[in-house]
Amino acid sequence: MTAPILRTKAALRDAVQGWKAAGESVGVVPTMGALHAGHLSLVEAAKAGCDRVIVTIFVNPKQFNTASDLENYPRTEVADAEKLAPYAVDAIYVPGAEEIYPEGFATSVLVSGLTDGLCGSHRPGHFDGVTTVCAKLFLQTLADRAYFGEKDYQQLQVVTRMARDLDLLTEVIGCPTVREADGLALSSRNVLLPPGTRAAAPALNRVLRQVAERLAEGESLGPVRFQAEAALREAGFSELEYIELRSADGSRHWNTPPGPLACSPPPGSAGCG
Ligand code: AMP
Repeated sequence: MTAPILRTKAALRDAVQGWKAAGESVGVVPTMGALHAGHLSLVEAAKAGCDRVIVTIFVNPKQFNTASDLENYPRTEVADAEKLAPYAVDAIYVPGAEEIYPEGFATSVLVSGLTDGLCGSHRPGHFDGVTTVCAKLFLQTLADRAYFGEKDYQQLQVVTRMARDLDLLTEVIGCPTVREADGLALSSRNVLLPPGTRAAAPALNRVLRQVAERLAEGESLGPVRFQAEAALREAGFSELEYIELRSADGSRHWNTPPGPLACSPPPGSAGCG
C-alpha cells in the first residue's frame, strides 16, 4: 500500500504531533524525487533508526542555478510513491511551493566557510538554497534525525554544520553512496545523460579514486592532477569544471593551480544536487 501523501504543513504537523505525543521518534529523508536505490538506502536507514519515517519530495527552486536545469529536472511522483510502497513509510510530504516559500518569504540560511569552493564556487547560491529548505523541512517535520547521502559530501557537511550552529533538534546522519555496477553514483539526473556521456561518466569515480590513492602514497598534486585530467579527457570528458581536494571535514585544502581547467564532468555526474 502506498503511504499517505501530505501536501500541506498543517496536515504534516497533525500527523507528527500524534506520533510525538505517543513518544515515537521521527526520521526524515529529504529528496527532490525521481527516486532511485540511493534514496531508498536512506529510507532503509531511517526505517532502521526511527519509529516513524517521512520522505519529503520537493524540487527546491532556490538551489538551482539555471532555469533549464530546474525545468528539466525529472518529476515522477506516482512512480516515487510506488517505489516507496515496500518500505511502508509513514508519510510522503510533497509540499506545494507556497508551503515552503509563502508570499513575502525573505529569509535565507547561509553557512559560511564550508560552502567556499567545490560546488559552492561553481553554483553560486546553491548551498544557501539547500540550507534554507533543509532548515524549513527540519522544522516542519520536527524530525529527530535526517538522513543524507555521502554522494553529496559537501552538502552533508554544510547541512550538519547548519543544524549544529542553529541548535536545531534534528541530528543529521550521513549514509554511504550507492553506485551502479560500473561505479557511477546513482543520481536522478543520470537519466538525462545522452548515451555517449553516460558511457564516459564512470571514469569520474575511477579517476578520483586513483587520485586519492596516489596522493595518499605521497605523490605530489601537480602531476597527479594533470594525469587525472588527461585520463578524463581520454574517457570522453570534453570539459572539466574543477578538481579540488579536501580532507573529509573540509578543514584542509590542497590548492590547485589557478585558472580554468581545459576540461567539466558530464552534467549530473558531479556531486551537487
Ligand atoms: P536529491 O533527491 O538528489 O536531492 O537527493 C536526496 C538525498 O539522496 C540526498 O541526501 C542525496 O545525497 C541522497 N542521494 C542521492 N543519490 C544518492 C546515492 N547514489 N547514494 C546515496 N545517497 C544518495
